[in-house]
Amino acid sequence: MSARPISLLGLPYDASSSFLRGPALAPPLIRKALASDSANYWTEDGHDLAVANTFHDAGDLELPEDAAQALPIIENAVDKLCQHGRPVICLGGDHSVTYPILRAFHKHRANLTILHLDAHPDLYHDLNGPLSHACPFARIMENQLARRLVQVGIRTISQHQLDQARRFRAEVITMQHRGKISALKLDGPLYLSLDIDVLDPAFAPGISHYEPGGMSVRDVLDISQAIRVPIVGADIVEYNPTRDRHDQTAMVCAKLLKEIAAAMLRGGGAPRPDWV
Ligand code: MN
Ligand code: MN
Repeated sequence: MSARPISLLGLPYDASSSFLRGPALAPPLIRKALASDSANYWTEDGHDLAVANTFHDAGDLELPEDAAQALPIIENAVDKLCQHGRPVICLGGDHSVTYPILRAFHKHRANLTILHLDAHPDLYHDLNGPLSHACPFARIMENQLARRLVQVGIRTISQHQLDQARRFRAEVITMQHRGKISALKLDGPLYLSLDIDVLDPAFAPGISHYEPGGMSVRDVLDISQAIRVPIVGADIVEYNPTRDRHDQTAMVCAKLLKEIAAAMLRGGGAPRPDWV
């Protein structure tokens, strides 16, 4: 494996948020939590990401407030990183960033499956415009940027979004019926879009939209550790530091970042059994 096998890119952008600003502050705080002396770089499957020299950090983009200008900048930057053939993890920002990220990925991967973990389906045709953080998966599916959209953890929907889910043949596993996750057969290559508000606000208070009844951190780790197909890209979005307490949510983001990186390094393989 080549040195620095995973690219990181920070997306400090929250101008397409419908409710609160704040996620633009997230990328440096996730990096700081990752490097915090309170923890180390070991993953649960026994890899030391520091020794493995895992991350090629491409830094943070400078992004204007206007979505029509910001999104092509994101798309071009992700496109350049995809050209290296390494997996890419994008940090921070509101969920609108996933549309330009997928536009870039689609140029390199024609048959992506998206695993989307979120309290919300983000399938609005329009919510304060077509590029809002409530719309990315409508844009992605109508532009056929993914072959499959699997949404897990959903616990608030609307008639319009239900109609959209059916129109796009999204596979929706609601929080109420989360037991269906174990029967889920995912295809590779996989793109993982992780909206931190899939977690219960008790585990992740640093989010804009509190939707109680969500996943535990362990639930998300179990899902990532059960993935048996290659993960080519991921994003960790909607962390809002202005609502966090003692960097609790930043540490959750860093933990999930490490475990997503571990899953990428496994390339679809199972975690080592009983390595301790
Ligand atoms: Mn959400
Ligand atoms: Mn979302």
